[in-house]
Amino acid sequence: MRLGAIEAGGTKMICAICDENGNIYERMSTPTLTPAETLPAMHKFFEDHEIDCLGIACFGPLDLKKDSPTYGHITTTPKLAWQNCDIVGYFSDLGVPVGFDTDVNGSVTGEATFGIARGIKNVVYFTIGTGVGAGILCEGNLVHGMLHPEGGHVLLTKHPDDPMEGSNCPFHPNCFEGLCAGPALQKRWGVPGKDLTEREDVWDMEAWYIAQALVSYTMILSPEIFILGGGVSHQKRIFPLVRKYYAQFMNGYLKTKQLEDLDSYIVCQSLDDNQGLLGAAIIGKNALEAK
Ligand code: ZN
Repeated sequence: MRLGAIEAGGTKMICAICDENGNIYERMSTPTLTPAETLPAMHKFFEDHEIDCLGIACFGPLDLKKDSPTYGHITTTPKLAWQNCDIVGYFSDLGVPVGFDTDVNGSVTGEATFGIARGIKNVVYFTIGTGVGAGILCEGNLVHGMLHPEGGHVLLTKHPDDPMEGSNCPFHPNCFEGLCAGPALQKRWGVPGKDLTEREDVWDMEAWYIAQALVSYTMILSPEIFILGGGVSHQKRIFPLVRKYYAQFMNGYLKTKQLEDLDSYIVCQSLDDNQGLLGAAIIGKNALEAK
């Protein structure tokens, strides 16, 4: 089966041809400019490759309601050029079934199909990078609800030593994304995250915030594993710190085999940053099978 996949991100769009076994045969990447500048090259890529279906895992917010007149659109994104972009409609003339979901639901699908969460039915995947988002698999199903989870905007208690006034989110003075995404790090410390790799205090505070969010997600969703991806996941030193604060905040309240082994409970993405793309391919395959 030839599965077309798009991982639509805020900085770049990745298009690929995959198969149902997690192989990626060809890929093309293009910067995310405006739809008029970016989409034609992506369309051309799929015109040039025969595909059976297409899956799109996209930055949001998105309209995922199949019965909505604006199904398949990117909606109120702060990336203004992409507001109300009918990204699913743009590819409909390829004549193949098109699956559509959030970027992070793509990633959790990738990890649950091919990666570290294979065979696990309750999984929370966080991307912590330019923004923060959560892809949620609950009893084997992707969670959408009234819209889709916006897992980066859960509210956190501010660290008493946080030097940043408010947060970096225009909507919330103390949300996960506003406190933990890359731009928040830059705002807090005055330099980009990549120049902060040696600063223990930076990652200690970052981990303190991430652990708070994870504890809340544990209480509400009871996931069997947490996977962290995005730029922050490349800071390997953060994982022991997140586990340490997670245990501290949990304070022994729950006893499960997962919580006895936090090294296996809070883990790094396992697919070399291909989890979103491979998940998009599976979302496309699911659309084909639903036909
Ligand atoms: Zn927010």
